[in-house]
Amino acid sequence: MKNPILVDFHCHLDLYPDFESIIEESERRGVRTLAVTTTPRAWPRNRDLTKKTKYVRSALGLHPQLVGESSNQELVLWEKYLPETRYIGEVGLDAGPRFFHTFQQQIHIFKRILQCCAATGDRILSIHSVRSVSSVLDLISENLPPDKGKVVLHWFTGSAEEADRAVKLGCYFSINTEMVQRPKGRRLIEKLPLERIITETDGPFTKLQTGITKPWDVEKVVEMIAMARGTTSDQISKAIVKNMKTLLR
Ligand code: MN
Repeated sequence: MKNPILVDFHCHLDLYPDFESIIEESERRGVRTLAVTTTPRAWPRNRDLTKKTKYVRSALGLHPQLVGESSNQELVLWEKYLPETRYIGEVGLDAGPRFFHTFQQQIHIFKRILQCCAATGDRILSIHSVRSVSSVLDLISENLPPDKGKVVLHWFTGSAEEADRAVKLGCYFSINTEMVQRPKGRRLIEKLPLERIITETDGPFTKLQTGITKPWDVEKVVEMIAMARGTTSDQISKAIVKNMKTLLR
C-alpha cells in the first residue's frame, strides 16, 4: 500500500528550534500542515516561508493566552494582515486559572476576530476553547454565519453535551496524541461523527516517547483513532483526507 496522506491541521512550526528545516521536512513527506501562529507579529515570516510550499500553509493568529496590555495594537496588526490569508489561528478563549484575569479582554478580541472573518468571508479558523467551550460556541453562533467561515475546534476538552452542540453548529475537531491517550478524549473520539474529525499535533506542545511531536507523527493519531473506533487506520486516514477536502472546499 502506498503511504497514506497525513494531515496536521494545527502545529506551531515557528516554535521549533529549526523552523525552516521542519517546513522542508513536512514538504518532503507531503504532510498537509497548517502552521498556526500565536501573534500577528509572527505572520510575515510564516507567510514568506510558506509562499511557495506545496503542502504547508500558514495561519494568522492571536492566541488567547497572550492577550494582555498590548493586545489592541496586536488586533490592529491582525486586521491588517487578514486579507493575506484564508487560514486563521490560533485564536479563541482560555478561562483556565492562569488566564482568567484577561477573559473579558479575550472575549472582546475573539469577537472582533470573528466579526472580521464574517465580513471578509471564506475563512477557516483553528480555535482554542480551554474551559470556555460554551462562550466560544456562543460567540461563533452570534458572530460568524456558517457560510462565512468554517471552524475547527483544536484540542477540544469540553463535555459530551458541548461536543454535541459544536457538531450541530458545523464545527470540526482536530485530534492530537494527548487527547487519544486520555480517557475523556478517547470517549469523545469514539462518539464524534467521523465526517468531523481531522488530525493535528499541536507541536511542539505535545510529546511522544520518541520526543516532541512532529507533523508526520499524526500517523500515530490516525492509528489511535482507528483503535478507539474499532476500525482500520486506512479507513480513518481516508476519512480525514476527505474531511480536509470538504473543509477547504
Ligand atoms: Mn496550539
